[in-house]
Amino acid sequence: MQKLSLRWRCEGRCIGLVPTMGALHEGHLTLARRARAECDMMVASIFVNPLQFGVHEDLDKYPRPFERDCQLLREAGCDAIFAPDAAVMYGKSDPADPQTFVEVSMLGEMWEGVVRPGHLRGVATVVAKLFNIMQPQRAYFGEKDYQQLKVIEHMVEDLNFPIEIVPVPTVRESDGLALSSRNTYLAPAERAAAPVLHRAMCEGVQAAQDGETEVAAIGEAMARVFATEPDVAVQYVAIVDAQTLESLETLDGRPARILVAARVGHTRLIDNMAI
Ligand code: AMP
Repeated sequence: MQKLSLRWRCEGRCIGLVPTMGALHEGHLTLARRARAECDMMVASIFVNPLQFGVHEDLDKYPRPFERDCQLLREAGCDAIFAPDAAVMYGKSDPADPQTFVEVSMLGEMWEGVVRPGHLRGVATVVAKLFNIMQPQRAYFGEKDYQQLKVIEHMVEDLNFPIEIVPVPTVRESDGLALSSRNTYLAPAERAAAPVLHRAMCEGVQAAQDGETEVAAIGEAMARVFATEPDVAVQYVAIVDAQTLESLETLDGRPARILVAARVGHTRLIDNMAI
């Protein structure tokens, strides 16, 4: 892969990378189509990265419809798919215990970092490896995983990767649920309850648009929406500075973001929205 990418770069071609864990949906394909439109070569990775899963998480049951994913990427005009297994990806290191990590300390330790210790370190490490292997000039990331996007942007700046990170807006179902490979885990009643995340965020945005600047009041308005679905267990609802992800007490005109995480049955959902 690295040789192929270096050859393309020597030929003067711009490479756009779409990193994924497979089980592709319209969200991933939107990233792929953006990369296809903006770059000479569009490449994608499919790798379910053990390093970013906690011990009790869904690494083993994560869906892996590999042939279908390849077909979808081919249809989107992908020039190369890099799909290593963990032994190839981590080489001599034990995939469960590599020796070298990339850690974006502050940003990686809040919110998702609290609920999933080590997760964002696993993400940053594998994305740095993918950047070195696949040598893209541009890489496309979904806003769906907003904290991940910020961690990657920070890593690229801190480590001087000569790569432009392109954020892509979240693709949603018609009822507002953000597309996610994990939505397939939802039982019908859970699927029916899941759009409450989106409804609550819309309520928060509406409150802000109506002039509410106190974050506590906006949080209460969102909590009232969440209360309509008692089977959805909120893990955190945060209104944060859109760059540093630090909690805000009042909206003061700075770009801000609502971050939410909740459990619906055994499935964990995250979402976010600009406020
Ligand atoms: P994943 O396969 O879940 O690791 O996601 C691969 C990439 O697709 C990440 O950059 C995600 O943020 C992005 N992505 C996942 N779901 C969506 C969505 N609903 N809309 C836009 N991008 C998404």
